[in-house]
Amino acid sequence: MALIVQKYGGSSVADAERIRNVARRIATTKDKGDQIVVVVSAMGDTTNELIKLAYQVSEQPSGRELDVLLSTGEIVSSTLLAMVLRDMGYEAISLSGAQAGIRTDSAYSRARILKVEAQRVVKELEKGKIVIVAGFQGITGGMDVTTLGRGGSDITAVALAVSLGAEVCQIYTNVDGVYIADPRLIPEARRLAEIGYEEMLELATYGAKVVHPRAVELGELFNIPILVASSFTQNPGTLIHGGVSMEVRNKVRSIAYDLDVAKVTVVGVPDRPGIAASIFEPLAKAGISIDTIVQNASINNITDLTFTVTKSDLARAMRVVEPIAKSIEARECASDSRLGKVSIIGTGMQNTPGYAARMFEVLSEQDINIQLITTSEIRITCIIDEARVKEAIRALHRAFELEMEE
Ligand code: ADP
Ligand code: ASP
Ligand code: MG
Repeated sequence: MALIVQKYGGSSVADAERIRNVARRIATTKDKGDQIVVVVSAMGDTTNELIKLAYQVSEQPSGRELDVLLSTGEIVSSTLLAMVLRDMGYEAISLSGAQAGIRTDSAYSRARILKVEAQRVVKELEKGKIVIVAGFQGITGGMDVTTLGRGGSDITAVALAVSLGAEVCQIYTNVDGVYIADPRLIPEARRLAEIGYEEMLELATYGAKVVHPRAVELGELFNIPILVASSFTQNPGTLIHGGVSMEVRNKVRSIAYDLDVAKVTVVGVPDRPGIAASIFEPLAKAGISIDTIVQNASINNITDLTFTVTKSDLARAMRVVEPIAKSIEARECASDSRLGKVSIIGTGMQNTPGYAARMFEVLSEQDINIQLITTSEIRITCIIDEARVKEAIRALHRAFELEMEE
């Protein structure tokens, strides 16, 4: 008898009929004799609707209240699913994140899981029940409800799989696996049968929403295989795991994009020790995460410093940086919120020169201007005008497609 964690995303439980569909799939697994823990997201667009509602009544909703409000979305779907399963004759019980022992820090809207105290889940499993856990939420030591960040039900699922010692964490969604590029944008893109944690982490971090990067990170750390598959078909899906063989270590494995990029440039910064710290420490204290940082080589001890943030953090970042720029006597602070990034990813790139040059050439053939470039050992990212991102992805897919054969 295996223990399996299954997670169903928002579109998989978007209405009563889809909840019934998910219940039938869970029942099939249970009938095989496995123990099963299910994690659900909120129905369809519920989380967005709740956020909208909060901003209709308050300009700046309290983080604590907002998290309790958002957590209700997953409570609705988990309870409905338990009701359907019970009507079908299965013993099922829903648990909130708190009841399931998901203990987090108190960073509202982006809480991190500190530990999972899974005794209650284990107790219910031992009684033969199907345990349905509301995803995306946890509780602090002080008993305040938190949420883990958008798309966070994936993190709940892998964290539970880790703490229960599950054989696999299955993430069921609206696509039948991980594709070499977003299949909504590139319908002809191919599905990957498997992908290593390292590549999947870069792919998820750099825009592929299909699994949350923090879920991939947890899977890698504790060596839990993650299967991404469709909740609407029986197709085999994509296995994310550590044992991807050397032979399939393609050079360029996948392509990602992200339209949520804004940049801040502090122009005319005096180049002396401590300047970068004086800018980035207050940003970190304000909880603003910085992605790319570029500092030019200085001329006459004056330099420019550019960094990127998400679009929703731009106004806050400017409020933090503008007074600092003044105090260090920088010339000005400029921003641009109409950017996006495109990335090519593959472990095989690390020992092969020429990939960056080829990527730049593909973009220049489309007359796309590259504003910033960042790389890791297995990734090259270009930051470009957001209006050109889709074109860029199509061109990169065409150019690198042959390499991505398995
Ligand atoms: P869920 O609600 O089930 O969590 P998400 O919307 O978060 O689903 O994630 C699934 C979506 O991820 C797909 O609809 C797809 O458009 C998008 N996506 C982006 N890049 C990829 C990729 N490389 N492979 C598969 N899906 C991707
Ligand atoms: N419902 C939450 C969101 O929309 C969490 C999730 O779907 O994973 O972000
Ligand atoms: Mg998701």
